[in-house]
Amino acid sequence: MESRFVEKLREDTLRCTICPRMCVIQPGKRGFCGTKENQNGKLVSLTYGHISALAVDPIEKKPLAHFYPGSRALSISSVGCSFTCPWCQNYHISTGNIENHQTRYMHPEEVVEIAMTQECTSIAYTYNEPLINLNYVEDTARFAHESDVKNVLVTNGYISTHALEKVVDVIDAANVDWKAFNNEFYKEHCSADLQSVLDSTEYMKEHGVHVETTFLVIPETNDSEREIREMVKYIIGHLGPDTPLHLSRFFPMYKFQHLSPTPVETLIRAREIALEEGLRYVFVGNVRSGGYEDTVCPECGKPVIDRTGYTITGWNLDEDMNCRNCGYHVSIVGRKETHSDGFLV
Ligand code: SF4
Repeated sequence: MESRFVEKLREDTLRCTICPRMCVIQPGKRGFCGTKENQNGKLVSLTYGHISALAVDPIEKKPLAHFYPGSRALSISSVGCSFTCPWCQNYHISTGNIENHQTRYMHPEEVVEIAMTQECTSIAYTYNEPLINLNYVEDTARFAHESDVKNVLVTNGYISTHALEKVVDVIDAANVDWKAFNNEFYKEHCSADLQSVLDSTEYMKEHGVHVETTFLVIPETNDSEREIREMVKYIIGHLGPDTPLHLSRFFPMYKFQHLSPTPVETLIRAREIALEEGLRYVFVGNVRSGGYEDTVCPECGKPVIDRTGYTITGWNLDEDMNCRNCGYHVSIVGRKETHSDGFLV
């Protein structure tokens, strides 16, 4: 499939315009992510329709806490990434060339049909970085909208404004994974830059996308109180205090085997800082106790959505998403969903 996100330079040299890397690609060569190849002056998307994994997930697993709570998402992925994070949990699909991976071709309409058959409210483009496969994401997302299926990005947020403005109308929600809140970290570990990620996150928010952010707290790397506080202030100032923040626990993985798991106290302290600064909905992921996965009413302090893992176990909001205890309006997109087979309560 020929990519739509391309600029022709001199002779047969092309520029891929999907992400801020803006790879200049000579004939016979590939871009940084390995998914775009210049074939005789045409930019070919090598991963278009190549699905590496497909699963039905609770939306809470993406994680999205305030978007159609209790609903199902059909998760799909391909291969490759625009970043080089040494802690990647999915390095088996984010690294290497398409030729080294087992994938199955699926037409965008087929994906939407499966989503509908499986009673999925949304399709989540996830596991590997979905934005590098933007041609396929956009095509699938447009079919999805025709059938009233929503689209969710689970992403590093590394996309050019030029590309984002072409697809933002079909994106309903995004969890943007901020790797750190300092540019040196982005340069050293991700081979990328922080500002591009902040800009695209803000652009999505301004254009009606429901945005949540995830921050993986890595010991000795991005876990200083100062960095967490600065990030939270930025979220409040640029995305608003109702933006859910997921603080996630690190476990040794891939090239980051030498570090210990994040101490639970570090995550709890980070959550306290975020709440102190005025962020209203702060979750701690990968810690299965203490009620840190619950949505707590910012006004009266009572849990309004209880969660155990990815399952909703209690609901204390009325139909208009007001706290049943004090009437405070909790910012949630969509309705609560219930499945008859007990998949979620
Ligand atoms: S999507 Fe891939 S090929 Fe295109 S600019 Fe980004 S890294 Fe380069």
